Amino acid sequence: MMRPEKKTRAYKPMRVEVAPMGNRPRSRDEYHTWRWTKLSRAFREAHPLCEECRRRGVITPAEVVDHIVPVEVCADFWDQSNWQSLCQKCNNEKGNRDKRLIQKARGRAHKGVGGLNL
Ligand SMILES: [Zn+2]
Repeated sequence: MMRPEKKTRAYKPMRVEVAPMGNRPRSRDEYHTWRWTKLSRAFREAHPLCEECRRRGVITPAEVVDHIVPVEVCADFWDQSNWQSLCQKCNNEKGNRDKRLIQKARGRAHKGVGGLNL
């Protein structure tokens, strides 16, 4: 009686490529630092009200610390004169405005939408 031949195959572990760090934009990484957690918390304690609401005469507790000049285009992430406390709603609204600002700052090559307030 013939036995099926046993095939022995050397075990080859799959090669897992470790994605190199450092491809991400540097500025975003600052948000994940202990330094930011600590400093932004302290900043909010010092400025407990939403700045944008306050300017409109509304008192709203701040929930986040925002960069007045967006992180993507500001000179120094840690410059607290560029920080302001915002509530979540104002932060979202500002985020949308910032996107346009960043696009403007980055590529003045896009001149297709001249005059249109998109
Ligand atoms: Zn607000």
